[in-house]
Amino acid sequence: MKLIFLGPPGAGKGTQATGVSSHLGVPHISTGDMFRAALKNQTPTGIEAKRYMDAGELVPDSVVVAMVKERLAEPDCANGYLLDGFPRTVEQAQALDEICAPDAVVEIHVPDERLLSRLTGRRVCPKCNGTFHISSLADETVCPVCGDALYQREDDKPATISNRLKVYHDQTSPLVGYYEGLGKLRRIDTEALPKDAAGDCRREDVFQAILTALE
Ligand code: ADP
Ligand code: ZN
Repeated sequence: MKLIFLGPPGAGKGTQATGVSSHLGVPHISTGDMFRAALKNQTPTGIEAKRYMDAGELVPDSVVVAMVKERLAEPDCANGYLLDGFPRTVEQAQALDEICAPDAVVEIHVPDERLLSRLTGRRVCPKCNGTFHISSLADETVCPVCGDALYQREDDKPATISNRLKVYHDQTSPLVGYYEGLGKLRRIDTEALPKDAAGDCRREDVFQAILTALE
């Protein structure tokens, strides 16, 4: 199964992509994670990507497409893939259609107001890559899974967040129409799901809704 997860920053794409990819047995490929790893290793791609990422801007299509193309050629992608954070522009989608077109595209829809509160409260663990919301943590500074010190991503700071949302609406949301036109879109309306005590939907419910949409 070749899948794309589409959704604004803060939609829960990364979390759901991790669960769904292991459920389906296909590799989870996150271009954001690939760029962060490249930066950590100080590769030329990582160094070039950094200035765009810090500003909440998109890395140029040619750079991303080359990186994804190389990744999809690896043997673990023979049975499919789950792409998270790619494509993000119509140009990238067209490039992917030429490399290895997806079977289905899951759009995780979340309204902007909710995204804002989720993103400003998001913390990441450098060790296990887990993401957590401060509202669910006993101690906001410690990873509940492995005990490492949590950090806030540079691009989760308020000024960058509003730019990332704008970039999503301007450049990425046209992909909804693109894939709808190809009959591949599966929309998950998270606002239609039951709410927990904090007024947000539950991860398990989103997960089930995705599996149902893919049946
Ligand atoms: P988000 O939480 O905003 O979905 P990601 O972790 O997916 O963030 O990506 C972080 C940053 O990496 C983006 O803001 C962008 O600068 C860069 N990036 C990731 N994927 C792409 C892509 N497909 N095209 C262009 N830039 C990308
Ligand atoms: Zn951890």
